[in-house]
Amino acid sequence: MRHMSKMTFNELNLIEQLQRAVRDEGYTHPTPIQEASIPRLLEGRDLLGCAQTGTGKTAAFALPIIQRLHQERRPAAPRSARVLVLTPTRELAAQIDSSFKVYGRHLRLSRAVVFGGVGQFPQVKALARGVDVLVATPGRLLDLMGQKHLRLDSLEVFVLDEADRMLDMGFIHDVRRVISVLPSKRQSLFFSATMPPEIVRLANSMVTNPTKVEVAPSATTVESVDQKVMFVSRKDKRDLLAHILNDPEVSRALVFTRTKHGANKVVKQLEKAKIQAEAIHGNKSQTSRTRALENFRRGRTRVLVATDLAARGIDVDGITHVINYDLPNIPESYVHRIGRTARAGADGIAISFCDSDEGAFLKNIQRLIRTQVPVSEDHPWHIPAPFMEILKPRDQDQRTRGNGNGKSRRNRHPGNRKNRRPSFSNRSAGTQSSTPSRQGA
Ligand code: AMP
Repeated sequence: MRHMSKMTFNELNLIEQLQRAVRDEGYTHPTPIQEASIPRLLEGRDLLGCAQTGTGKTAAFALPIIQRLHQERRPAAPRSARVLVLTPTRELAAQIDSSFKVYGRHLRLSRAVVFGGVGQFPQVKALARGVDVLVATPGRLLDLMGQKHLRLDSLEVFVLDEADRMLDMGFIHDVRRVISVLPSKRQSLFFSATMPPEIVRLANSMVTNPTKVEVAPSATTVESVDQKVMFVSRKDKRDLLAHILNDPEVSRALVFTRTKHGANKVVKQLEKAKIQAEAIHGNKSQTSRTRALENFRRGRTRVLVATDLAARGIDVDGITHVINYDLPNIPESYVHRIGRTARAGADGIAISFCDSDEGAFLKNIQRLIRTQVPVSEDHPWHIPAPFMEILKPRDQDQRTRGNGNGKSRRNRHPGNRKNRRPSFSNRSAGTQSSTPSRQGA
């Protein structure tokens, strides 16, 4: 728990029932974002949070919200909510709802969660009497409002979660429509992992005199993850994956592919290698996604194969390994992916496969995280020939130029020619260390 402070939840002025709930969860100290946000939110301030999943952000907003609901107890009006948390994906919505359940377990708290892809009747029923906390994705929320199953004119607290992802997924207009019907007197919390201009504009239109909290990914998740890259040809990826997953140390692994088709293919390949795995992506029904996630959470499935969107914000404790079967073409996705392990300061391992077409992706990632990802020492094979070609010193010079750390020239390592022979030992990693990765070490 490297990033925990010495402060206690008691010092944050949380009521006893909430302190008990976090103790039940095994939390001993608040995370930085909790320490910074909770006192301000208890005062009723607005909040602008630059933070991603994995930092303890959900408790940072859920705990003070629950406390305020408890201290200002009043029944919610029928078909309305006192608190609305808007989040981009169904998985996140379900997870945030279950966090409210966990943190509110010693208090009375009514909750509902609404998202698309499932029948709306149970959701309508859950809203009928009014709820304290509603967690929703934008599309279904607007549907239900349009059908007069829900009104938001008496809302007290509004939380917008993962605003940048809302933008990426094309939900920004829906979000604006929701904001336009909220009462102007309310507490607003705005969270985003990144702050591009459009997101800053949205934030400014939503919050008033906010407390600003920033937990940079590079200072938290990324640094607490043991990152490695393995250079491998595309055709060898499947065997390498099976090899890694056969290690009993890998007790809970999340494998990322770029496409849904890729995720299904990896599951099939693993099945052939007698490794049980399940896929989770947008083409699967909600029921099968929930089931796969639940199996993974409970340890019935050791390997979950996911695409970026489907895995967004997956909050499963104890993921020991994140494996990038394909490197993401969007460098921010890399940060999100590896943030699924090493939750809230725990250590985790992230292994990225990089084939000869993915060198540019790796370069962009390294530029974003301002770190060279070290090459794995555990590669069981020699570097495939096509890859050797692109690692020739001259080539490598080009590959590393402009990565902004000013170290590439000084640390260039020309010795890889000698090591071209196939090798089965760890020494083969020496060959690979002539890639950019050694340079930042
Ligand atoms: P989040 O950023 O909200 O997705 O939280 C990431 C993970 O950290 C979740 O699994 C939480 O249960 C866990 N967590 C949140 N706060 C703490 C804390 N103070 N100490 C330890 N774990 C925490």
